[in-house]
Amino acid sequence: MKPLINDQKQSDLSTDVTCVYCHGVNSRPLYDTVSTAGDRFTLNKCLYCGCCFLLPNPTKQQLDAAYDDSYYGQSESKFPGWIERVLDHFRSQRARTVMRYVKAPANVLDIGCGNGRFLQGLINKNYSGYGIELPSKSAERASRIPGLNLKTGQLCEDDFGEHFFDAVTMWHVIEHLPEPRKTLQIIGKILKQGGYLMASLPNIDSFQSRLFRGRWLHLDPSRHLLFFGALDLAKIMQTFGFEIVTINYFSLEQNPFGMQQSILNCMLRKREVLFEVLKGNRSYAREYSSVSILLQKLFYITTFSLFALLSVIESCSKKGGTMEMVFRKMK
Ligand SMILES: [Zn+2]
Repeated sequence: MKPLINDQKQSDLSTDVTCVYCHGVNSRPLYDTVSTAGDRFTLNKCLYCGCCFLLPNPTKQQLDAAYDDSYYGQSESKFPGWIERVLDHFRSQRARTVMRYVKAPANVLDIGCGNGRFLQGLINKNYSGYGIELPSKSAERASRIPGLNLKTGQLCEDDFGEHFFDAVTMWHVIEHLPEPRKTLQIIGKILKQGGYLMASLPNIDSFQSRLFRGRWLHLDPSRHLLFFGALDLAKIMQTFGFEIVTINYFSLEQNPFGMQQSILNCMLRKREVLFEVLKGNRSYAREYSSVSILLQKLFYITTFSLFALLSVIESCSKKGGTMEMVFRKMK
């Protein structure tokens, strides 16, 4: 296979590592990053498929630690009540995106369904909701939603019959997948012809990604294993028989906070301090005083409008921090 990118000096290339997505052996190191646990990684860009991926691949121990209960939230919900209510608003928006393309009754699968609240909105509108979530506090919450068909674990080849689903959704999931190609192959089989795949993910070609590099919030090492730009992902999806329907580069939920937390990451020794505190993980921020945390919260509240405006501008130039893509299965 010939690399897609040919303008690299040979000395810049790594030839002893394989791409997480295509297993190609030519890649280029971009920059270094450090996880919340203090583990160091390099982000490499594959010269075959354009995928950016963490090196070294996070170990099982690092992944287990990254997905402990502090990730999912230790109480009844992941975030405090007022944040969950705001998130419910965004979950309803996503449900409306599905309703725009697929009319009820229809089978919808949400991979990485979290607490299942997005699917609950669809079930209430006469859709059949199927969810997949790793064993976790979130899966426990989803299992209590009436009418939700939940599988706890990974999506496997024989979980569902061919052409069973009208829509499959993956909201900020693809970047977590250790075997993304296998998952996309299965989705290609279980979706009906003309069915839709809807996915949101960090945009590695975004303005904020390029500005903040290793300190970018949405890099989120070691949980995020791989990243795509829109064009590279669209090309990959074509190989599975999907055409791109639309791309939205604006997210009020993800993009302003992506910039705000990244700025704080540049100012503080540890990354994601405010984000962890908002999740109730105060022990992660134990070396930061109450005054420091208060100032970070004030920074978040007082500058939100400004960064929301900047997010509109970055999305107009297709450089939004995250992207929501809708694909249709052609064959
Ligand atoms: Zn690759």
